[in-house]
Amino acid sequence: MKQIERMKHLSLLIWFLVFQVVIFSSQVFAEEKPVVVCTTGIMADLLKNLAGEQVSIKPLMGAGVDPHLYKPTHKDISLLSGADIIVYHGLTLEGKLEPILEKLRKRGKVVIAASEFGRKDLLLAAEDYENAFDPHLWFDPMLWKLVAVKVSSELSFALPEKASEIQASTAEYLQKLSEVDQWTRQQIGTIPEKSRVLVTAHDAFRYFGRRYGIEVDGLQGISTSSDYGLRDVKNLAGKIIDRKLKAIFMESSVAAKFIESLQEAVQARGHEVAIGGTLYSDALGPEGSGADTYLGMLKHNVETVVGGLK
Ligand SMILES: [Zn+2]
Repeated sequence: MKQIERMKHLSLLIWFLVFQVVIFSSQVFAEEKPVVVCTTGIMADLLKNLAGEQVSIKPLMGAGVDPHLYKPTHKDISLLSGADIIVYHGLTLEGKLEPILEKLRKRGKVVIAASEFGRKDLLLAAEDYENAFDPHLWFDPMLWKLVAVKVSSELSFALPEKASEIQASTAEYLQKLSEVDQWTRQQIGTIPEKSRVLVTAHDAFRYFGRRYGIEVDGLQGISTSSDYGLRDVKNLAGKIIDRKLKAIFMESSVAAKFIESLQEAVQARGHEVAIGGTLYSDALGPEGSGADTYLGMLKHNVETVVGGLK
């Protein structure tokens, strides 16, 4: 009897050990993929489309996080140090992270500044800062294509054994970006011309405005770290009234109070203006929101803007 019990125990133990080995080896296998740390969810989504099968992608900032104000935690610093490749936007979007990234680059890590693709003539100058550029390139899908090409080629250079797969996925994704660009142009075209004014919390949509012929005004400048004054509120309220705008818009990564105070200022002067919804500007939406990918976010924004202004 005792012998049988012992055998049972032994076989259980063997199964347990086999199970452990399977788990361990699958972990080792998963870790074999090069780890690419991306600063924002927007960038992580791009990487997923360019090299999702080839690399293991880890985003630093989650949904709704403002990259202008983001300070890295201790955990982030160890994630960045352990990465094989880091991809960030650059053009000082991630102002507080850049000194660390520079340090890691000097130590020999592959650090890709995605928005710095050598065509400054295509960029908008930052209004509040000298010798600086507006970093919100992703709202012009044609500029985002240039970002995709830059990331894809640097990634292929760093990972030559995966280059052909990366190049193939890139070609496919560039096609999708062209399609969303055409669709956006057609949608914005349905807003009456005089109502094509987009008023939001901060100036994240200037490239979008340039691409699709829509005037853009943010209560704050291109970085949420800048202040705005009562004069800005008054001027913007005046414009909303003059143009008889039906709606202004919140942003998911900027506090609601900024746009609410603007709405109050407009209504105090006798003009009804609605809050047309929340746009995703510097961060993707939460999982399952439909705006949890770049293409989904763009579609959500376009539909919200068209719905509010038409
Ligand atoms: Zn921004």
